[in-house]
Amino acid sequence: MDFDLPEGLKMLKRTVRSFVDKELIPLEREYRPEGDEGMPEKHLKPLQEKAKALGLWMLDVPQEYGGAGLDLLTRCVISEELSRTVALPFRHIEVFGPEVRPVLFYCNEEQKERFLFPVLRGEMRACFAQTEPDAGSDPAAMRTMAIRDGDHFLLNGTKRFITGAGRADYAQVMAVTDPEKRARGGITCFMVDMKSPGVVLERQWPTMMGDAPWQIVFEDVKVPAANVIGKIGEGFSLAQKWIEEGRIRGHGARPVGIAQRALDMMIDYAHARVTFGRPLADRQAVQFMVADSAMELHAARLMVYECAWRHDRGEEVRNLAYMVKVTCAEMAGRVVDRSIQVHGGVGLTKDLPLEWWYRQLRSIRITEGATEVLRWRLARNLMKAQRPS
Ligand SMILES: Cc1cc2nc3c(=O)[nH]c(=O)nc-3n(C[C@H](O)[C@H](O)[C@H](O)COP(=O)(O)OP(=O)(O)OC[C@H]3O[C@@H](n4cnc5c(N)ncnc54)[C@H](O)[C@@H]3O)c2cc1C
Repeated sequence: MDFDLPEGLKMLKRTVRSFVDKELIPLEREYRPEGDEGMPEKHLKPLQEKAKALGLWMLDVPQEYGGAGLDLLTRCVISEELSRTVALPFRHIEVFGPEVRPVLFYCNEEQKERFLFPVLRGEMRACFAQTEPDAGSDPAAMRTMAIRDGDHFLLNGTKRFITGAGRADYAQVMAVTDPEKRARGGITCFMVDMKSPGVVLERQWPTMMGDAPWQIVFEDVKVPAANVIGKIGEGFSLAQKWIEEGRIRGHGARPVGIAQRALDMMIDYAHARVTFGRPLADRQAVQFMVADSAMELHAARLMVYECAWRHDRGEEVRNLAYMVKVTCAEMAGRVVDRSIQVHGGVGLTKDLPLEWWYRQLRSIRITEGATEVLRWRLARNLMKAQRPS
């Protein structure tokens, strides 16, 4: 058993760390993304060129489509390092190439020309629409229906909290095509042109994170049958695969990177700040916050690496991915909270990145699987596997 990262990956980790330290952390005072707004062009273009030169381009895209073709462990290590700065939008997009949702890799050859390649060239944007007013944690309860009518489907329903819908050309919409089967083969993924008659951007939902996802209404929208991604009835399982990777990297590795920087900041400040004639670093109350944060962070990081490594070996990691998301999301929230506490009033100000992380991290205990739902699923799976005989 070897707990060390492979040599090549350690080198890459150092490269990304130095990119973050030299290029991005100095930007933090000038630029901090809020919501959906993109990075200003004057910063974006030079950073994109530097990222390309370092091979940090289209990190999530397979090599056959011109991407970096990286395994999940490598992408987790990169994400961890990139998350040490708040100068990047929370999803790291833009600086490292266009955002490509993995569902698009299931396009057939003809669809690749229409959907995948334009997204890869940065000419088209897509959003992902699964959640509904009455179906969030339980997407199988969705009401959006797609009824076949010759060579197209008629789409009706409402989707809520859809990130980036306002600037998307297409929405990847999950809809029921067989009400009897639902999650077991009755939900299909459609590429829906946002300019189609009957697509209404009804309202935005501004959040504490600064973004404002959309509510979209579909009223008798005609969607060509040629816009079905994957097979009819395969939508739910496609989305689950994608969401699982997101739990490991986005909700696992990313909080680990945030917690690492929050802990580093906590220690630096504890040395520098003197109260009642002694540095905070001398106080046991502060030392315990440092020690608890370091222990929790270490355990969470090992969990992410192990889960990603097993995923790359083709092992089933569903339960591990639940553990990763719950552990990392909660751990990072606690570490950032402690770091704010040690920084005192300064920790609450927008001069430091801590308040931004505090708000962003709150959301990942809810989105793409609330922690209670993942605990419930984990316990259910474990108990099912170990029924009394
Ligand atoms: C900023 C933002 C961006 C989003 N972007 C997108 C997007 O781009 N596309 C998309 O499709 N969706 C998106 N979502 C939706 C998001 O994934 C859902 O909000 C999330 O899945 C939770 O669903 P819900 O809000 O309906 O909560 P509900 O399902 O109503 O759950 C509410 C709470 O009840 C508890 N709970 C629920 N079920 C159980 C259970 N079985 N056991 C115990 N407790 C339970 C949990 O504490 C949960 O937080 C976004 C949401 C936000 C806030």
